[in-house]
Amino acid sequence: YPPDKIRNFSIIAHVDHGKSTLADRLLEVTGTIKKGLGQPQYLDKLQVERERGITVKAQTASMFYRHEPTNSNYLLNLIDTPGHVDFSYEVSRSLAACQGALLVVDAAQGVQAQTVANFYLAFESGLSIIPVINKIDQPTADPERVKAQLKSLFDLDPSGALLTSAKTGLGLENVLPAVVERLPGPSGKPDHPLRMLLLDSYYDEYKGVICHVAVVDGRLRKGEKIESSATGMSYEILDAGVMNPELKSTGVLYTGQVGYVVSGMRSTKEARIGDTLFHVKSTVEPLPGFKPAKHMVFSGLYPADGSDFDSLNHAIEKLTCNDASVCVSKETSTALGMGFRCGFLGLLHMDVFHQRLEQEYGANVISTVPTVPYIFEYSDGSKVELSNPATLASNPGKRVTACWEPTVIATIIIPSEYVGPVITLCSERRGEQIDYSFIDSQRVLMKYKLPLREIIVDFYNELKSITSGYATFDYEDSDYQKADLVKLDILLNGQPVDAMATIVHDLKAQRIGRELVAKLKKFIDRQMFEITIQAAVGSKIIARETLSAMRKNVLAKCYGGDITRKKKLLEKQKEGKKRMKRVGSVDIPQEAFNELMKVS
Ligand code: GDP
Ligand code: MG
Repeated sequence: YPPDKIRNFSIIAHVDHGKSTLADRLLEVTGTIKKGLGQPQYLDKLQVERERGITVKAQTASMFYRHEPTNSNYLLNLIDTPGHVDFSYEVSRSLAACQGALLVVDAAQGVQAQTVANFYLAFESGLSIIPVINKIDQPTADPERVKAQLKSLFDLDPSGALLTSAKTGLGLENVLPAVVERLPGPSGKPDHPLRMLLLDSYYDEYKGVICHVAVVDGRLRKGEKIESSATGMSYEILDAGVMNPELKSTGVLYTGQVGYVVSGMRSTKEARIGDTLFHVKSTVEPLPGFKPAKHMVFSGLYPADGSDFDSLNHAIEKLTCNDASVCVSKETSTALGMGFRCGFLGLLHMDVFHQRLEQEYGANVISTVPTVPYIFEYSDGSKVELSNPATLASNPGKRVTACWEPTVIATIIIPSEYVGPVITLCSERRGEQIDYSFIDSQRVLMKYKLPLREIIVDFYNELKSITSGYATFDYEDSDYQKADLVKLDILLNGQPVDAMATIVHDLKAQRIGRELVAKLKKFIDRQMFEITIQAAVGSKIIARETLSAMRKNVLAKCYGGDITRKKKLLEKQKEGKKRMKRVGSVDIPQEAFNELMKVS
């Protein structure tokens, strides 16, 4: 397939507008997968993806398509992208390998926050965009209104919009002809030396590291030697081919193709996303690559009681092979022992990582209160990026002289009757309005600059609940801004628990402290002795609760009773203990850590 017979395109949309379903239908009509085969949403391969109905990893599928009007065959590479804001990094990566995109919009819901964000990602990457108004089978579908929004927001020609139902199949016959006729082919040079972009990598038990690549110039054959411009290491191509969507070896990849290579890399750490690979001894200009993933949320991961450090270490190593966007370093907590500090792209990413550790690797983990990366400046002039509040210097010779927190620019789309409550919420979260406009007669788009800390936790839930579920929300990271921040310590029986320390805004410390101790009181089980729970800023106690001692031993009632009942009770206790960590003499359940992060 020469470049003019190749189309690399992506499907972008707000979550739930139907891009995975549409992708499946396209794979079906091209005979790439059999109709009705197996599970719905073929491209969502991970268990978490199926369970949560979200796409986490971008997936690629090649399709062979016969374009009847011109009587010619095309190779179409479809790159499915994740819709959630945490994974926008995956989206921009996928787009780098594409020349065009299908922008899917739900005909009833219209343009939403992620539609806006994804449109701009694609537009700024210079892609040609075909709007697809999907779900036209719904009784509340209003394609004309969506067309007007596309025109007013993005200046897209409404007459070019395709109307589809990925569910009933209506209008689907127009999609692939439009891809072929309206999107350009890749513009690389077949007769130039090889340059290929490393898009993604994962680890396969049998084949080792598998790299997804886009061949920009030249071509690549099995047996050839390639070099990485990022690491200078060289490799022999052991296998190359296309994702169809299962790996299908072709032994060769031509200009403009998207496919995979196996090259004997030992670990995905050698496969730098955005790297340029070329033939050994040839001299080429590296491709622009991508800006590195930014870690927005950090949290500690510790083995829960009854599971050991080594198996958690092993599980994390394995999983990071598959998700290179997580950064990991070892850390030690006085309260929790040896564990890991991990950086994530967002809270959902963190949850997904946690869930995959448990589901795919059987790990039993306690995760500590997440934090965003702050910057602190000390009296000696040094500056640190703080990813663990516990490590904020408490050395009296080293005072904090200034601090900065990361901010985001949030896009919120709501029906106009909810403007009041949303403005109130955003100002409670220390937001600053930077844009306010109508996208049609009933909907408002607002942009706010907000501290990241204020939105990673529960902001979206709150926003949904005050707008009866109508608000949609997306954000991109922005700069650091100066803020009055303090470290809030939690003390159990007078002892500070390092794993529970958080950084909060000075003005909110009192209220947050009170709420935290009240929550902890609810979530920590009563023990045989009294427990005091306190919140402190520096040496000042700002809140206090007491959890009274348990009166009866669970076994007391069984005194002299039969042994099986006793065993059952003990087993039940043990089960309840699964996700616990003993700190000093107090058992702390995972829920307590989860609740801590919901206070802001
Ligand atoms: P994604 O998040 O954009 O990948 O969306 P999905 O493809 O997972 O679809 C979200 C939901 O919308 C699923 O329950 C689909 O069955 C449903 N859906 C997708 N396309 C259509 C359509 O054309 N009509 C209707 N009525 N439902 C659809
Ligand atoms: Mg999906």
